[in-house]
Amino acid sequence: MSKPVTIDIEGVQKIYTSGREAVIALENIDLQIDPGEFLAVVGPSGCGKSTLLLLIAGLLEPTAGALTIDGSVVKGPFTKAGIVFQRDVLLEWRTVRKNVLLPAQIKDLNRKQQEERAEALLSQVGLDGFEDRYPHELSGGMRQRVSLVRALVQDPPLLLLDEPFGALDALTRDQMCIDLSRLVERGTQTTLFITHSIDEAVFLADRIAVFSPRPGRILELIDVELPRPRKLSIQTQPVFQEYVQRIRAIFAEQGILQED
Ligand code: ADP
Repeated sequence: MSKPVTIDIEGVQKIYTSGREAVIALENIDLQIDPGEFLAVVGPSGCGKSTLLLLIAGLLEPTAGALTIDGSVVKGPFTKAGIVFQRDVLLEWRTVRKNVLLPAQIKDLNRKQQEERAEALLSQVGLDGFEDRYPHELSGGMRQRVSLVRALVQDPPLLLLDEPFGALDALTRDQMCIDLSRLVERGTQTTLFITHSIDEAVFLADRIAVFSPRPGRILELIDVELPRPRKLSIQTQPVFQEYVQRIRAIFAEQGILQED
């Protein structure tokens, strides 16, 4: 089993210079993510959340500052990460099983072991019996569950989730939150979860980084001290609502949420 990673981000800035004007996406980001921690990032659109994820994945380079995983500077793609984006990017001509096993096939990993793990994970998210179906036969939520299982099948030490439920309806999102919390509960992955849903962040995370509008800075880091396993009913409890209100108040102060 792989060991979850430690991520260290020090003074990171990211400026995009590809367009006509330079865009400062991130400014002065200092953040350490502990092994096995589930860190959610919430912030308004365009505040640099995806940029942060791509920097950690090694798909972008910071303009300034340092980013290390387990003490090594990230240079080039961190191939051990499992990544899920808002769009599921499943291959339509491969069955569910073959989509899930694709990374293992590319890396030539132990097939039997990977198949067993794929089957167990698919069953955990209620997809047993769907292994030989094709993506077009599945609902949006089922497709995204397949993406999640594909990201987890190699037991990655780092899981990067960029608005994975963003395109799903509210009920499906609730179910996905339950499924994801079960999948990551054991702390075997360090997880970065990008969302603009405050409720999702509070329900899932150990800690939440609240971002300012662009250029993205961390306004506050909030420890979510709710017991696990968490059930959806926790969302109606005052202690849950206190976290939600606290984050809303930060956004209201920034002028992102306006009531009058
Ligand atoms: P978020 O995920 O919070 O919505 P992003 O990280 O996608 O924000 O983008 C942050 C800012 O950087 C936005 O203003 C976006 O338009 C800009 N941006 C993102 N990618 C590029 C790029 N490749 N070139 C120029 N600007 C970019």
